Amino acid sequence: MNLILLGPPGAGKGTQAKLLEERYGLAQVSTGDMLRAEVKSGSELGQKAKAIMERGELMPDSIMIAMLGARVAQPDASRGFILDGFPRTVPQAEALDVLLRETGMPLAHVIELQVDDAALVERISGRFTCAKCGEGYHDRFKACRIAGTCDKCGGTEFIRRADDNAATVGARLEAYHRQTAPLLPYYGAQGKLRVVDGMAEMAEVSRQIEAILGAPRG
Ligand code: ADP
Ligand code: ADP
Ligand code: ZN
Repeated sequence: MNLILLGPPGAGKGTQAKLLEERYGLAQVSTGDMLRAEVKSGSELGQKAKAIMERGELMPDSIMIAMLGARVAQPDASRGFILDGFPRTVPQAEALDVLLRETGMPLAHVIELQVDDAALVERISGRFTCAKCGEGYHDRFKACRIAGTCDKCGGTEFIRRADDNAATVGARLEAYHRQTAPLLPYYGAQGKLRVVDGMAEMAEVSRQIEAILGAPRG
């Protein structure tokens, strides 16, 4: 089963994708995480990505389409994948349609996480992740059970994203509304769009998604 999680920055895509990865055995494909790995590596692509991400703008479609194509060709994607952060523009969605058709990997659902802009600013400004295992947290909505220690791996170092600041968030939300929101009618017309209340608490969002997907197999 192949899925897309669609929603504005901070909507909860990464949080839900990780849960689906565990419960359904799907591969989480996060283009944002892939770009952050490039930035960290200092590659030429990473240097370009760093500047664009800090401005809250989108990377060029051609680069992202090539990156996604290479990623879903990896063996682990053949068990099914969850796209988190791709597609973000209509040209990316069109290229994805072609890729999925050519490779015989059908898209089961596009799940939209609906969250108000005001709530997104609070979600993004409180977000942090474990430096060791990548587990996601929030200052207010998902604190570590023991302060300063990762629930999952016991790590004690945490990362806050450079673009998770009030100045960049406005540009990211604008990019979402202008460039990504047109994907909602695009997938609506394909009969693939499913809407979930992303304002609900995390466990309730998961329940709504699982109601769409059905129980995991096995
Ligand atoms: P968020 O968690 O805010 O939804 P991501 O981690 O998915 O953000 O992406 C962070 C940044 O990486 C974006 O603001 C954008 O600059 C870039 N990016 C990620 N995926 C794409 C994509 N599919 N197309 C263009 N830019 C992308
Ligand atoms: P995205 O991948 O869409 O940018 P994340 O999954 O990183 O979003 O979530 C953004 C922040 O909000 C994180 O700090 C996360 O812990 C928190 N969060 C995620 N889902 C919810 C929810 N349903 N209610 C409250 N906070 C949430
Ligand atoms: Zn950890």
